[in-house]
Amino acid sequence: MEQGPILSPHILIFPAPGQGHVNSLLKLAELLCLAGFKITFINFQNIHERLVRHTDVEARFSKYYGFQFKTIPGCEAEDPRPADWVRKLFQEMEVKSKPIFKKMVIESNPAVNYIIGDGVMGFVYDVAVEVGIPTIQMHCISACSFWTFFSIPDVVAAHQLPIKGKEDMDRLITEVPGMERFLRCRDLPGGFCQVSHISDPNLFVITKEIRQSQALIINTFEELEGPILSQIRIRYPKIYTIGPLHNHLKTKLRSIEKQESYSSSTSLWEVDRTCITWLDNQPSQSVLYVSFGSITIMTRQQLMEFWHGLVNSKKKFLWVIRPECVINQDGDNLGEIPEQLQEGEKEKGYIVKWAPQEEVLAHKAIGGFLTHCGWNSTLESIVAGVPMICWPYFADQQVNGRFVTEVWKLGLDMNDVCDRGVVEKMVNDLMVDKREEFVKSTARMAELARKSVSEGGSSSSCLNRLIEDIRLMNM
Ligand code: UDP
Repeated sequence: MEQGPILSPHILIFPAPGQGHVNSLLKLAELLCLAGFKITFINFQNIHERLVRHTDVEARFSKYYGFQFKTIPGCEAEDPRPADWVRKLFQEMEVKSKPIFKKMVIESNPAVNYIIGDGVMGFVYDVAVEVGIPTIQMHCISACSFWTFFSIPDVVAAHQLPIKGKEDMDRLITEVPGMERFLRCRDLPGGFCQVSHISDPNLFVITKEIRQSQALIINTFEELEGPILSQIRIRYPKIYTIGPLHNHLKTKLRSIEKQESYSSSTSLWEVDRTCITWLDNQPSQSVLYVSFGSITIMTRQQLMEFWHGLVNSKKKFLWVIRPECVINQDGDNLGEIPEQLQEGEKEKGYIVKWAPQEEVLAHKAIGGFLTHCGWNSTLESIVAGVPMICWPYFADQQVNGRFVTEVWKLGLDMNDVCDRGVVEKMVNDLMVDKREEFVKSTARMAELARKSVSEGGSSSSCLNRLIEDIRLMNM
């Protein structure tokens, strides 16, 4: 019997071109390297250039025998509205990236034995099926948002969409099994499923991609999303829940390398570490961390509402503002942080363009997180035991926000309002008045997350099962 392919099947991993996706799939790649697999990690060229510019990721992965990065030309869709941008990007990937990827798979030497595609890139699944290579989809979104996207055809069939104006936003959506009692129109994925016409071209964009899957890896853990996972299992018996991935990798590396602290940046922006020094000088749990992730765009007016709300709350804050995230009334990027924020009130808050977020959230000075509820940010906050104020922007974030506040009781919901008075009140509620409510629930969930990735925990066992199943498939 040939030993090589049995001990080390060649796995191809391909993330979607976004910070959260690259983060998650690189972590999965490293966990599979530790299991002894040969990995080829494919990135879009433009993403890879940024990754290499801002991190030591090439050097770090060079220690894994058989690991290699490969790139394919980037796709550049243009549209200021994020869901339209995603739709155009997917269309372009289908036309441009699919044939290149297919050729790469067919011509690969050594041959590819297994493909792990990003759950939102249906063309990767199609290629795997067309060339007859076993495949699995890795979902970087929560199980609850996966299940919501999945159920949209049933929601439409039951005539629960479209949404009829603002006054309809609190109506319950009862066709997503397991969420009948609390999912409202306003909690459906923003930009995609909160439609005013059934013919909206974005309605089924993500649903179509994620419904391609047969077996799923999800960056979540059983103790967090058990009831929804039970619903998903009716349709997909084979699910591997191996999250929170960042904590899982950290725990594995600690046990192997006996390192107490581990930090590995996979940032596509230059990380400003001066904020850690600033945090070092703040009292315990006194600072609110504010970040809206890598995609959120806001108007200058919204930015100023947040600014005044934060300053008026009299709580210290650390705020990440990517210069390209602010637009003017015409929808043009300002390309810079407004001067008023750079100059005034410095002693109250610290502003950076990009932070080492995992490290920030784990810092003892942090007492709360004002977040857009991206899934990576949500998991990072859960692991750090930090309560959240939710201001979801689009896609899966609305569903995540609903679960954070209504189901897991880990924070407060801004209900889509961006007003300085609301911001001020929310910050004071989270940091002072209602703090007690959240201290217990966040600490409990952080402990469950920690256990899930420890030896014998649910996510750790699932990862072992995934590794075993990949090996068996290649015998
Ligand atoms: N992030 C970071 N520094 C920042 C802001 C964000 O490292 O200043 C990371 C964050 O830790 C998370 C990712 O960027 O892992 C954002 O992913 P998420 O799914 O939360 O949101 P998205 O950017 O996809 O909307």
